[in-house]
This record gives sequence, C-alpha cells and structure tokens, in this order.
Amino acid sequence: MRPNTMKALEKSKPEEGLWMVQAPVPEINADEVLIRVNKTGICGTDIHIWNWDDWAAATVPIPMITGHEFAGEIVEMGRNVTGLEIGQRCSGEGHLITTDSRQSRAGKFHLDPGTRGIGVNEQGAFAQYLKLPAFNVVPLPDDVPDEIGAILDPLGNAVHTALSFDLLGEDVLITGAGPIGIMAAAVARHAGARNVVITDINPDRLKLAEHVVPTVRPVDVSKEDLQDVIAELDMKEGFDVGLEMSGSQIALDQMVEALVMGGKIALLGIPPGKSPVDWSRIVFKAITIKGVYGREMFETWYKMIAMLQNGLDVSRVITHRFGVDEFAEGFAAMKSGQSGKVVLDWT
Ligand code: ZN
Repeated sequence: MRPNTMKALEKSKPEEGLWMVQAPVPEINADEVLIRVNKTGICGTDIHIWNWDDWAAATVPIPMITGHEFAGEIVEMGRNVTGLEIGQRCSGEGHLITTDSRQSRAGKFHLDPGTRGIGVNEQGAFAQYLKLPAFNVVPLPDDVPDEIGAILDPLGNAVHTALSFDLLGEDVLITGAGPIGIMAAAVARHAGARNVVITDINPDRLKLAEHVVPTVRPVDVSKEDLQDVIAELDMKEGFDVGLEMSGSQIALDQMVEALVMGGKIALLGIPPGKSPVDWSRIVFKAITIKGVYGREMFETWYKMIAMLQNGLDVSRVITHRFGVDEFAEGFAAMKSGQSGKVVLDWT
C-alpha cells in the first residue's frame, strides 16, 4: 500500500535549520522508480543547507527536501523500467544528468554540464520515499549493508579521487582527514600504495583516520613537518601522488612542496573562494593536476562495490547513528567537527 504522505526533512524557510514535515509521496514517471529510504548519510553539503550560508541561499530553492546519501529498497517502478525489480535493495547516483550534451553522448555522464543534484536542485533523499530515474539506481549486493549503502556517495568521491592516478607501489599524501579523506586513505591502501600519509590540524580527525585505517600515518601539520615524515618513512624525494581533500590553501602549498618532480595531484577539496597558487612552483616541478567532480557513472560505483566485496573496510568511519526523529543531534554531531559519518535511520 502506497501512503499519501511521508516524513521528510525539509528546508522550509530561508533561515538556519531543517524541519521535519509531512510531504506528499512523490509520483513517478515511466522511467523512474520509487525507493523506500532506509538509511541516509549527512553530508557537508547538508550542513551548508542547514546553516543557510551564501552558497545555499544562492543555490537551493525553497521548499526543498534535502539529502542525497541514501540506501533503500525499490517499491514502485515506472512502466519503461527494465532490469530492476520491486524489493531490490539499492543506493543511487544523486546527480541527475541530461542525455543531449556532448559529454553525455560520449558516455562521460559525470561531466554533463546540465547535472542537477537531488537534495540541492531537486527533491532529495531525507524522506521516507525518494523518486529517482531508474538509470541512477545502483543495486546493492547482499554483502553491502544499508549503512554502507548510505555512504556510497562520499565513498564514491574518495574512490574517484584516489583512483585518478595509479597508486600501486606509490607514496600517497592526503591533505584533510574528514570522512572523505579518511576513506580515500583506505582506498589508497587497498589499491596497493606503499606509504599513505594523511594530514590535518584537528587531532580528533587524525585519531579517527588511524582508527579507520590503522596503517595510515597521521600527521598534525601544526606540530610536525612533512619533510621530517618524508625522511622518517625513507621516501627520499617525496610523495608520488597527492589527494587534496581540505580546500585549504596552506595544505595545497604543503602538498606541492612535499611532492616528487613530476608528481600528480587530484583535487577534491573546495577552497572557500579564489586563493593564490604558486604556479611557477607547479610548473618547475612538472606537476599534473586533476579536478575531481562527483563520481564516474558508473565506473566509480562498480569499482567501489567490487572493492567493498574484496576487503575494503570503511565501516568505522561511521561514528554516529540516530533515528531520524533525532536528526538535530545528528546535525549537531556533524557540526562539532569531531564526527566521522553520521547515519540517520528512517525505518
Ligand atoms: Zn554528500
């Protein structure tokens, strides 16, 4: 039986906060599915929307059901949908694409300039039901629990960034020990990197990094110099690959300094505004830089699920679990800067 209304966590007014409302259960079209949401992850994006900062106010129309990290189960399918079935557990890609851009037509869906995000531009996943194009659905195998399914979106950011360059046998520097940086460290390990070093200036985050990935070398750059760590780990010339996850100018400078000649950098962290870059240093070190957006559809999803089935373990990055009625505590935990991933249970 399909109910008429559902619980949803909505941005209802242009001010700080989110509100639990009763919203209509979405109607699906012929190419969409309706998903009953079981678990959701809170993202930094959701914190921006909660805080209603300049970015959120300029980007998000009101009212908006927020949230884009989810796992659930298909309960309704449009008549054109094939290859899925009612009861299928799933997560899904929250970037909704067009199919007429050059990049989409070339099969590079994640580079479609017309991308719209659920929970940002379109009604989102912080609700008991979510409608999604069947194209965006990613079925979950039995050995990937809902809780992990709910964090595949940020894990996908980590995987997309970490797999930007070959890591086998390489020394990898990750700047920024938020949940995505920490998961990237786990992926780098899984992908066969030799040394994986992660930096931050928040001791709680570095502690969590070690808890999730015991073989990572955490470095508090407010207390320790990366050059000493390079010597300690006997790397001689520096790191081969850098994964920038913090958006901090200082971190990027430290990364460029700590890289070998011809080193490579994948950038996921978003600086708060324009920030000065020492380009001549990058030119003379012959460094390759790649910007990373979202997840490759659907190669990142394929690889991440395959790795999860083959020993990649990021489960300890989930530090807080709340029933959805305690959502305010979940957001408070996120805002404290002392949490890993926070998962809300909608069942
Ligand atoms: Zn997210």
